[in-house]
Amino acid sequence: MQRKITYIGVGILFIFALAFSAYKLMNARDYQLFGNITSHIETHEKVIALTFDDGPTHQTDAILSLLDNYNVKATFFLIGKDIEANPEEAKKIAAAGHQIGNHTYSHKRMVLKGPSFIKNEIEKTDVLIANLGYSKVPVIRPPYGKKLIGLPYYLKKHHRETITWNLEPDTYYTEAKDKVAYVKENVQPGSILLMHPMYDATGNELQAIEDVLQALMDDGYTFVTIEELQKLQK
Ligand SMILES: [Zn+2]
Repeated sequence: MQRKITYIGVGILFIFALAFSAYKLMNARDYQLFGNITSHIETHEKVIALTFDDGPTHQTDAILSLLDNYNVKATFFLIGKDIEANPEEAKKIAAAGHQIGNHTYSHKRMVLKGPSFIKNEIEKTDVLIANLGYSKVPVIRPPYGKKLIGLPYYLKKHHRETITWNLEPDTYYTEAKDKVAYVKENVQPGSILLMHPMYDATGNELQAIEDVLQALMDDGYTFVTIEELQKLQK
C-alpha cells in the first residue's frame, strides 16, 4: 500500500514536471524542438529590427507614412484572413518595400493542433502573401509566440525560419512614454522589437513607435528588416 502511494506520488510529480516543461517550451522566445528560431542576433553593430504583428487594417496608411518619414523599412507579420479582408492595405505594404512575414491564417494558438491544420494555416497565408506581388519566402511568427511540436516540425521540414522578439513594450506598458523608456533601457545591438500598431484607435501606439524611432536613431541605431538583420548574424 505504502509503495503504491509512493508510485502515485512520483507519477503526479512527473506529470507536473512534464506540464511545466511543455508550458516553458510553448512560450520560449529563443528555443524550439525543431528548426531555426530567432529572437535577436549577436552583433556589435547598432542595428535593430522593428516588427509589427497582425493586420493589415485601416491603420496601414498612417503606419506606412510614419515609416516613410523616418526612411525606415520594417517587417510586417500579416494574418491571412486580414489580408483577405483588407487586400488593398496589404498590397500597399508590399509595394512600399517592407518585409512581409506569415502570422498564420486565423491567428489561433498553434498548439495541440493537427498537421493538416498547421499546414493549411501557413500555406493558405503564403499564397495570399505571394498574390500581393511579394516574391520572397515569408518568415513565420506564431500567434502569441506560442508553438510546441507540430508547428516547429512543419517549419523545419519546409526549411522555414521562425522569428520571435526580445523587446515587447506592449506587454508591459500602455503609455507611449513608458514604452519608449523600456525600449531605451533594454535595447541591444541585434534586438528584434515587437509592436502592434494595427488596432491603434487612439494614436498612442503610433506615437510610441515614432518616439522609439527618434530615440534610437539619436542613440546611433539603424533600423533594418529581419532579412537584413539575419545577414549580420555572426
Ligand atoms: Zn498576433
